[in-house]
Amino acid sequence: MRPTLRLLQAIPSSSAVAYRPHTLGFIGLGRMGSEMAYNLFSRTLVESGGSTRFTVCDARQEVAERFVRKFADQFPGAKVDVLSTPAEVAAVSGTLITMLPSSPHVRSAYTEDDGIVPALMKLSPESAKSTLCIDSTTLDVEAARQVAAHVAKTGAIMVDAPVSGGVAGAKAGTLSFLVGGTNTAFELATPILAHMGGRIIYCGSSGAGLVAKICNNLVLGVQQIVVAESMLLGQKLGLDPQVLAAVINSSTGACWACSVNNPVPGAVPEKSPPCERDYEGGFATTLMLKDMGLAKDIADSVGTPLPLGQTAEQIYADVVREDPELADRDFSSVYRYLRLASNLTSR
Ligand code: NAD
Repeated sequence: MRPTLRLLQAIPSSSAVAYRPHTLGFIGLGRMGSEMAYNLFSRTLVESGGSTRFTVCDARQEVAERFVRKFADQFPGAKVDVLSTPAEVAAVSGTLITMLPSSPHVRSAYTEDDGIVPALMKLSPESAKSTLCIDSTTLDVEAARQVAAHVAKTGAIMVDAPVSGGVAGAKAGTLSFLVGGTNTAFELATPILAHMGGRIIYCGSSGAGLVAKICNNLVLGVQQIVVAESMLLGQKLGLDPQVLAAVINSSTGACWACSVNNPVPGAVPEKSPPCERDYEGGFATTLMLKDMGLAKDIADSVGTPLPLGQTAEQIYADVVREDPELADRDFSSVYRYLRLASNLTSR
């Protein structure tokens, strides 16, 4: 049960700038962002005795409004401002968290006319300098470094802090944050990230968090496919999926893709993977396809071969192209795609 707290009444928008240092802004309230913002806001409220205020923004206004309604249900009297653009959020929020799909969205939210950087440039140098930007999106390393350089020119501080742990980890507040930026930026970001995650790992300078994240997802993307292949093969050969999952999970094949995100309904009854909800929620196949592309691009740029990564990227591309319904479903739905393919073959 989440705690409840009576909040301070809404502060008139004309005074909003004066409250900027005590305002947290969250941009991008999708599957991950909505859970992260909920934990961040509720825990900050408790910690600050209600003296912090919040702003949110999503490209789909109804998504931001739904978040605020849910938050207000749990925190009666709460007032979280829904703002229309990232610039409006930056104008009144001293700390900003962005959780967007990928590179174009981050570029747009930070550098376009109604973005964060132009808004920071309109602030006093002191206000800009005291601003902390945390981007938790998984995006291209070079794009992230360019955006961070634009932010740095305003005097503000930025870290890349992509996450591992999925929607379940976001909801439970147990995400791992992989952080890139200066040591000072890392120290400033840590107490904020601690409200949303269990592990905060400093990976190095700007972009290093993303390098770590992309390498991790390269492993995950390949593993989820091979778990699907194995679960399918075992069943075809007469094994009960629950028995097979239990064997793998206690053997050398154990991995998160099998033990938590198992793609076969009923295989891990103690967990609640997306396959139990027809692959709704979780990590969209299109986002995994994006991450495999990020791995391929960065590997090409340094001349590292990715034979499995490239094959996995092709398989996710085939899933999205041949079964568009699975594009927005959890990437473990690659199992459903392979199962259909195997049925066709056996006909
Ligand atoms: P999502 O598509 O559910 O949410 C993204 C949100 O950003 C949407 O609500 C969208 O409307 C909003 N948005 C897009 N452009 C915007 C803009 N310019 N301004 C404001 N809002 C904008 O995606 P998600 O699953 O929450 O993933 C977010 C990021 O986290 C991605 O980079 C993804 O790769 C990464 N990630 C996701 C998971 C997961 O399990 N879903 C796990 C780890 C990392």
